[in-house]
This record gives sequence, C-alpha cells and structure tokens, in this order.
Amino acid sequence: MNGKDVVIVLSTALTPLFATREILNVETMYVCAVMLVVSILLAVLIYRKISRPIMNTNKTAMSLAGGNYDVKFESNGYREIRELNDTLTFAASELNKTESLRRDLMANISHDLRTPLTMIRGYAELMRDIPGENNSDNLQIIIDETNRLSNLVTDILDISKLQSGVMKLNETEFSITDTIKAVLNRYRKLKELEGYKIEFESDKNVYIKADAIKMSQVVYNLLNNAINYTGDDKKITVRQIIKDRKVRIEIEDTGEGIDPKDIKFIWDRYYKVDKTHKRPVSGTGLGLSIVKNILELHGFDYGVISDKGKGSVFYFQADISKIDNI
Ligand code: ADP
Repeated sequence: MNGKDVVIVLSTALTPLFATREILNVETMYVCAVMLVVSILLAVLIYRKISRPIMNTNKTAMSLAGGNYDVKFESNGYREIRELNDTLTFAASELNKTESLRRDLMANISHDLRTPLTMIRGYAELMRDIPGENNSDNLQIIIDETNRLSNLVTDILDISKLQSGVMKLNETEFSITDTIKAVLNRYRKLKELEGYKIEFESDKNVYIKADAIKMSQVVYNLLNNAINYTGDDKKITVRQIIKDRKVRIEIEDTGEGIDPKDIKFIWDRYYKVDKTHKRPVSGTGLGLSIVKNILELHGFDYGVISDKGKGSVFYFQADISKIDNI
C-alpha cells in the first residue's frame, strides 16, 4: 500500500477442533445406531415378506411331492409370491382330482370285472365237474362273458370319463327286451342251480334309443344286487311295463328292503348299508353309482321303491322308439 509491503497475520486457537471431532464422533455413532436399527428392520421385513413365504412354499411343495395332494399353499408375502402360491395350490388340486380319478378307475375295474370272471369260472367248473353240462350252450355263455369282459375293458376308460363328466354315449336303436333276456339267460342257468328263480314278465318286444352296452350294464348291476340281496325264497322278478310311449323296467327282489334313511345315499359312490347280509356279498358300493351315472346321462327316470322287510323294486323308464309283437 503506497509502495509499502503489508503483512496480515491471522491466528486462531486450535481447541475447538477437538470439540468438532467430538461432535462428529457422536453423530457417527448415532448414524451407525440408526443404520443398524434400519438394517435389522429391513432384515426382519425381508425375512417376513420374502424368505419365510418361500420357505413355507418349499415345505408345502415337499409335502406335495411326498404324495399329500390335499395341501394348500399359504397366500401371503409379496404379490409375485402370492401368485406363485395360488398357482401351486391350483396345480395341487388338479393333481388331487387326477389321483382320485385314478383310484375310482381302479375300484371300477375290479367291480366290473369281477362279475363276468365269476361267471366264467362258475361255468368252467360246472363243465369240469358235471359231465352232462359239458355242452355248447354252456361254452357259448363262457364266450359271451368273455366278450362282455372285452367290452368292459374298452368301456372302463369310458367309465372314468363318465365320472369326470366327459363321457359320450353311443346311442343306437335296440331292443331293451332282448338285452334283458340276454342278461337274464347268462345268469339264469348258474343261478337256477343255486335255487334262484328269475322271472321276466314281458309281452312285447320294445325298442329304445340308448347306448346298448351301457344299458346292459345297468340291467347287470341291478340284477346282481337283486340276486345278492333277495330273500330266502331266492325270487327275482323283472318286469317290462309299457305305459303311453314309455317303457318301465322293474327289477324286484323279496329281500329285507332298504331303510328309508339309507335310500337317498345308496346311489352314492362307495356307499354300503352297514349290516350283515344273508349271503356273502362282496360289493364295492359302486354298482348303483354306475347305474345312476349312466341313467342320468341318458336323461332316463329311475329310482327305487322299498319297504323295510318287503323287498325292493329298482326301476328305470325310457322313451319307446318302436314296439314289435313277440
Ligand atoms: P354294492 O357293490 O355294495 O352292492 P351298490 O352301489 O350296488 O354297491 O349298492 C349300494 C348299497 O345299496 C348296497 O351296499 C346295499 O346295501 C344297498 N342295496 C342295493 N341294492 C339292494 C337291494 N336290491 N336290496 C337291498 N339293498 C340294496
């Protein structure tokens, strides 16, 4: 300044620096503590919303893999996890359906195959043991039963479809009178030797439009039950009644009848009235459910009239498409 050098000297005490460091230390500790709490909270949140649902899903999936199809995947956590669980629950219920269909199929197979197999064995033994019975009529019955078996085998898949609701009927016009006669004939000889009296009351040859194989299965199942459950007189009466343009087929036995409290359940799958029978009846509780499925698919009326102690009359009713005199 004005040609003179000027020196400015600035000076300050160093003590406040320590105070600042102290403040910074304390703040860093607070920040650390807050970060620690936040990260703990975050870890808990991630555990609850992501890890735990995935662990639960995994546990349920392992139980599903072990064959427990009745599982439900818990729908919690984030949307993606919930969606995954919902999809897995749906897959499990589909697996469950397939599994119960498979079980039903096995039960149906054994039920439907047992009757013709018993018949074939019965006739074969009859022909072996009684020389006079070694004839072509009896052989024909064995051949017919074998045919029925092979029809059944092709039909067995249809039965599972029937129960899953995708069954198609192969409807043709055929004589229900002849169908009943054919079923009765197959039974008659074997059963008459055991003392059964099976009557068929019909005065016309009646044609209906329906699935012939399935209708003969209906007659088989109803007749089989009548034979199993009829009274000591071992009498069974099959009736063909024509009224207006309808034919009603009745299968009557003289057995113990069915308790009114059981009547509405007997058509259910696997339902068996719990009592001791006169004869060793090895039923599966499927016969009437197959009958019901087939008749409902045709749209035919059906039912049972039964009084305790007075036997039962099982019936179904169909539209007549043609009548011939016998
Ligand atoms: P099952 O193979 O046991 O005979 P069904 O489905 O054919 O199975 O019949 C179901 C139940 O209905 C039977 O267990 C039996 O108790 C009863 N039932 C069926 N038909 C008769 C009948 N004609 N008389 C008395 N009870 C019957």
